Amino acid sequence: MGSTAIQIPSRLPLLLTNEGVLLPGSSVRFSVETSRNIQLVKSRLLRGTSVKSTIIGVIPNTRDPDSESDELPHLHRIGTAGIAVQVVGSNWPKPHYTLLITGLCRFQIVEVLKEKPYPVAEVEQLDRLEQYTNGIGQLSDLSQQFYKYAVQLVEMLDISVPVVAKLRNLLDSLPKETLPDILAAIIRTSTNEKLQILDAVGLEERFKKTIPLLVRQIEGLKLLQKTRKSKPNDDKRIVAIRPFRRNNQVPGRPLYLDTVEEEDDDDDGDDIIMLEKKIKNTNMPEQAMKVCIKEIKRLKKMPQSMPEFALTRNYLELMVELPWNKSTTDRLDLRAARVLLDSDHYAMQKLKQRVLEYLAVRQLKNNLKGPILCFVGPPGVGKTSVGRSIAKTLGREFYRIALGGVCDQSDIRGHRRTYVGSMPGRIINGLKTVGVNNPVFLLDEVDKLGKSLQGDPAAALLEVLDPEQNHSFTDHYLNVSFDLSQVLFIATANTTATISPALLDRMELIQVPGYIQEEKIEISHRHLIPKQLELHGLTPQQIQIPKEATEGIISRYTREAGVRSLERKIGAICRAVAVKVAESQHKATNSSGTHVTEKEGKERVREETKSESINDATDLALPPEMPIVIDRHALKDILGPPIYEMEHHQSLATRIDIRCPLSHLGALKCHLRHNISARHAPAQILAHWWELQHRLVSWGTMERALHNRWRRWQRQRVPMVPAAGGLQGTRHMLSQGVMMCLWSHLRCSSCRKCGQVCGSIRECCMRLFFAWCPWWKSPRGA
Ligand code: ADP
Repeated sequence: MGSTAIQIPSRLPLLLTNEGVLLPGSSVRFSVETSRNIQLVKSRLLRGTSVKSTIIGVIPNTRDPDSESDELPHLHRIGTAGIAVQVVGSNWPKPHYTLLITGLCRFQIVEVLKEKPYPVAEVEQLDRLEQYTNGIGQLSDLSQQFYKYAVQLVEMLDISVPVVAKLRNLLDSLPKETLPDILAAIIRTSTNEKLQILDAVGLEERFKKTIPLLVRQIEGLKLLQKTRKSKPNDDKRIVAIRPFRRNNQVPGRPLYLDTVEEEDDDDDGDDIIMLEKKIKNTNMPEQAMKVCIKEIKRLKKMPQSMPEFALTRNYLELMVELPWNKSTTDRLDLRAARVLLDSDHYAMQKLKQRVLEYLAVRQLKNNLKGPILCFVGPPGVGKTSVGRSIAKTLGREFYRIALGGVCDQSDIRGHRRTYVGSMPGRIINGLKTVGVNNPVFLLDEVDKLGKSLQGDPAAALLEVLDPEQNHSFTDHYLNVSFDLSQVLFIATANTTATISPALLDRMELIQVPGYIQEEKIEISHRHLIPKQLELHGLTPQQIQIPKEATEGIISRYTREAGVRSLERKIGAICRAVAVKVAESQHKATNSSGTHVTEKEGKERVREETKSESINDATDLALPPEMPIVIDRHALKDILGPPIYEMEHHQSLATRIDIRCPLSHLGALKCHLRHNISARHAPAQILAHWWELQHRLVSWGTMERALHNRWRRWQRQRVPMVPAAGGLQGTRHMLSQGVMMCLWSHLRCSSCRKCGQVCGSIRECCMRLFFAWCPWWKSPRGA
C-alpha cells in the first residue's frame, strides 16, 4: 500500500476547527473565517509550492478567537494531519475561504512553537500503517467482526450508486485497521462520537467504539427497509383511492392532499423510475430507445446537483413526449372536403383543386410522401388561413412556424446539447406541441428567411423539405433521426425572388393571386362581415352593410391585393355601430327599469307632460332604428373622408398623362371621371392596368380585372374602340395601346425627363405585347 509511506512533518501549522471532525481517510470541507485560520491559508497554503506545505494539522473541538490579539484557546490534544486538496476563496458576505481537506493520520501536540500569525506546533505522529499487523488474537477477531458488519452495511445500500460500489471495493483492498476511521466518517454519527473515535489511539479501543455505531446504522437501515416494503401496499391504497377522489371530488376534502402525496413520491427520486417506465412504454424506434436507455443509466449515477442532470432529464422528457408513432387518421371524404374548403374560402379555385388532388391520391395510396406546397402571393390573400383550413379538411393538427427574420440555422435544427441553454429546433418543438407525427406544418414567410454568421436557415430547411431525405431528419439537440415524411408541409411567400433556388426547387409553387373588386365584395359578404359581426357581438338585425358600401370601402379606403385592410375597415365600422347599439340598449333599460303603477304613471305624466314634451320628442328620435344601415354618409362619418379618390386622379394624371410616351395615344388626358369617350377608353384601360400592376397582382388577376372592367363599361354603354366583343376585344385594344406605347417609348428614349417611367412602362408593355398581341402570334402560327 502506498499509504504505508505516510510521514508527516514534525512541525505542523494548526487549523483550529469547531464544527466537524476530520478522521484519517475521509475528506471534510471546512469554512475558514477567523483571522488566524485565514492567515494560515494565505501564507501557508496559497504561497507554498511543495506538497509538504499543503499538509496541516486540524485540531477539532477548538473555537478560535476572532481577533488575532486574543490568546490561543485550549487546544484539543489529538488532531488529524490532513492535506489541503482544494482552496476556494470568496468575498461574500465577508472574506472567507473554504478548504477541502483529506485526513492522513492522527497526531498529538508535543509543544506549541508559535501562536502568531497562526499557531505552529511540534507534533508526534500516532498512526503508522506499517505497524498494523493484521495480527492474530483478539484484534484479529475484532477486525473480522467489524469487516463482517461493514460488508453487511454496504450490501444493504444500492450498489448501482458509484460511491457504494467504490466503498465495496475499498473494504476488500484496504487494511482492516483503517476501516473504523473510514466507516465512522461515512455513517451517521454525532460530533462527540467522532471525537471519541479520533481520541481512540489504540486499535482495539477504536474497533470497540466503532462496532456499536455500525450496528446501530445497520438496524436503522433495516427499519427503513421494512417501512419501504410496506409502502407498495400504501401505494396500492393510494391508487385505489385516487380515481375515486378524482371522479367524485368529496366536498370539504382539500384536493391538495393528493398532490402533496405525489410531490412526496417525487422527492423520493421516484420520478427517474417513472421516466424510465415511460421510456419503456413509449413506442420509439430502436435507435432512439438505445440512446434513451443509455442516458437514463447515466442519469441514475449522476448527483442531482450536477447541471448535466437537469439537461439530461429535460432531454429524456422530450424524447418521451415526442410523437414517434402517434398520428391522426386522415379524413378522406372528397365531397365533404370540397364543401368544407368552399365554405371557408371564396374563389382560390386552383389552390382548392390541388388540395383535392392530394386528397384523392391519399385515398388511393396510403403512404403518400408529403408534397411541399408553397403558396405565393401578396399579403392578405388568405395563404395562411387556407393552410389552416386544409388541416381542418384533412382532420389533422395545424402548427404555424413563422420564419420571417429567422437567421440562425439552430432555429430549425436545434442546438447541440453541449451548449448551455440548448434546445430543440422549431420543427421538433412543433411536433412536441401538436403531439402527433402527421400534422400540417405551415412554414410562414419562407421568403423572409435571413442569413447570419450562425449559418443559413434556408439550407437547414432543405433537408426538412426534401421528401427523399426528411424521413430521417436529425435535430442537433435530439441527435437521433425523426421521421418527418408524414408531415404535410405548406410554405407561404410573398415573392419567389428572395427564396434560394435550391429551396425553390424542393417546392411546388401555387400562385395565389390578388382579388379583383367583385371577388373582394363576395369575400367580405360571405366571410369577413359575418366574422367581424361575431367578433363584435353584433347581429344582422343590428347592422347592415350593403354591397354599395363594401364597394365604397374597397375603392375609396383600401388599396391592396388582399383583404386584410378591408377586414380592418369593416372591424372599424362594427366598433362604431357597437357603440351606438350599446348606447341605445342602455337607454332602453333605463326607461324600462323604472316601473311605475298605472295610476301613479298617469298622474306623473299629467304633471310632467308640459315641461318634458320637447325632451321626449328628441329622446325618441335618438335611439337608432335597427338595423343601422351603412351608407356613403355613414362611411364618411366612421372612416373619414375617402383616402384614394383624390389621389386616384392625381396619380393617374401623373402616371398616364405622361408627356412623352403616351401622349401619342391622342387625347390622353386621363381624367377618369365617368364621361369616358371612345378616344379615352384605351387610356383608361391602361390606367387601370397600370394601377393593378402597382398593386402586386398577377397576370391572371389582371386579365380577369380588365375583362370585368370592360364588361362594366359595356353595360354602362361606354363606347369602346373596336367592335369585337369579350376578352378578345380587350386584348385587341390592349395590343393596340401596347404597340403605341412601345413605339412611343422608342421615340422618347432620348427624353431624360421621364426616363424612369418609360423604363417601367417598357417592361410592362413588352410582357403584355408578347403575351397578348394577336398579330405577334399569327405570323408564327402561319
Ligand atoms: P396571408 O397569409 O396571405 O397574408 P391571411 O391568411 O392571414 O393572409 O388572411 C387574412 C384574412 O383574409 C383572413 O382573415 C382570411 O380569413 C381572409 N381571407 C383572405 N382570402 C379569403 C378568401 N378567399 N375567403 C375568405 N376569407 C379570406
